[in-house]
Amino acid sequence: MNSELKEKWNACLGFIRDNVEPAVYSTWFTILEPLSLENNTLLIQAPSNFVIEYIEGNYLSEFQSAICKNFGSDIKVSYNIIVDKMNSQSTTVRSQEFQPAQIKGTKPMGNVTPLTTDAPQVQDLDSMLIHKYNFDNFIEGYSNKMARIAGETIAQNPGNTSFNPLFIHGSSGVGKTHLLNAIGMKTKELHPDKRVLYVSSHLFHVQYIDAVRSNNINDFIHFYQTIDVLIIDDMQELSGYPRTTNTFFHIFNHLHQNKKQLIMSCDRHPKDLKDIEERLITRFKWGLVAELERPDLELRKEILKDKTSRDGLEVSEDVIELIAENVTDSVRDLEGVIASLMAYSTIYKKEINLELAQQILNKNSKKEEKPLTIETIINKVCDYYDIPVDAIQTKSRKHEIVQVRQISMYLAKKHLDFSTSKIGMYIGKRDHATVLHACNIVKDQLEVDKNFKKDVENIESSLKS
Ligand code: ADP
Ligand code: MG
Repeated sequence: MNSELKEKWNACLGFIRDNVEPAVYSTWFTILEPLSLENNTLLIQAPSNFVIEYIEGNYLSEFQSAICKNFGSDIKVSYNIIVDKMNSQSTTVRSQEFQPAQIKGTKPMGNVTPLTTDAPQVQDLDSMLIHKYNFDNFIEGYSNKMARIAGETIAQNPGNTSFNPLFIHGSSGVGKTHLLNAIGMKTKELHPDKRVLYVSSHLFHVQYIDAVRSNNINDFIHFYQTIDVLIIDDMQELSGYPRTTNTFFHIFNHLHQNKKQLIMSCDRHPKDLKDIEERLITRFKWGLVAELERPDLELRKEILKDKTSRDGLEVSEDVIELIAENVTDSVRDLEGVIASLMAYSTIYKKEINLELAQQILNKNSKKEEKPLTIETIINKVCDYYDIPVDAIQTKSRKHEIVQVRQISMYLAKKHLDFSTSKIGMYIGKRDHATVLHACNIVKDQLEVDKNFKKDVENIESSLKS
């Protein structure tokens, strides 16, 4: 970089740093790199289109002023975007141009008015959006920042951003369905003429099966190909249905080629999707894959405050803190606690204080216990006696192995709702009579052998942890 360019660029950065929040400056602006200044064109390298769209969408005036101030108001700016090619080391560079002076009059993305508001077309499509989920009641936080901003950007300009498809993933209850619907609702509000459709993967699959049965598969595909913004929730539910996913693949290609917007959610990253064809998974990664992370403490508090005040509940700061610190995994769980608080305070006319909140938390955490499985029983028993898990599946008649097998059968009978033949199937491929016999032997020994009894009790208490 020549020294004049470096100096002017540093002055630009200085101006931006003075005008935006420090986190914004370090996240979005320090990653830009000026490459050259030739023919009055400033070439800037950015790691992705997302960065540019974010800056232009949110900090255009600061960015523009900084550049015009230091490089002159007739400067042209062009970007080199590094496009990561999947599965290959090479990077392709592509440019796009904008002239700060011309953009000056453009409203920031947040204020773009749809051209179509004057004459909205009559829609004959039920978008199936869930109206209660919108951006107004979607609380912003660090953990949902990336996905939310991408969603808001899409709603402004569906099909015409680099976030196509937008693939949102995250564990249960973190807000995927809410965000998907919020994007759909905003898109409809800004572009009433667009055909927006929200559908769960399960419903998509059911409709597909139905179409196959009634020989209407062409109509089915054709219908989906007329959609402008297709929002599909819970993509993991398509795994294991190759024909449904294959049909989705064709619809996806058609829509994507025609610059229609696709938005998907899933409980895991595309790379962890099993039983879905690689060619489809590759496509999921074409646009933006964004994670909705578990809500952090700050967001949990904000959500609690917002939801309790909407419900008209008066809750003190220390109660909010207590709940936010203890319910950490999902927003759905937070809502569960609020619902209980509401019930207690209205039904029992109890004041919502720390004691009540703690009681409710204790009850809720009991409900969340994971159900016991036969695998856990086998593992814990083998662990306790230090026997390899595989050993109990063999025909071995060695005393230690027989004992471990019998205790596993006994505990499975006692703690699971399994028939004796099912237990036999899981443990050593034995028949139901053998399982019954094993249970009786263990019961008898428990009565006469104190050490044995202690061992079995230890194992049983370890099943609860
Ligand atoms: P997921 O689809 O990821 O399982 P949902 O979208 O169904 O999760 O969210 C669970 C509940 O939590 C919903 O009632 C939703 O409104 C609420 N929720 C999730 N995230 C937020 C948020 N950021 N602000 C407000 N409510 C939220
Ligand atoms: Mg959901």
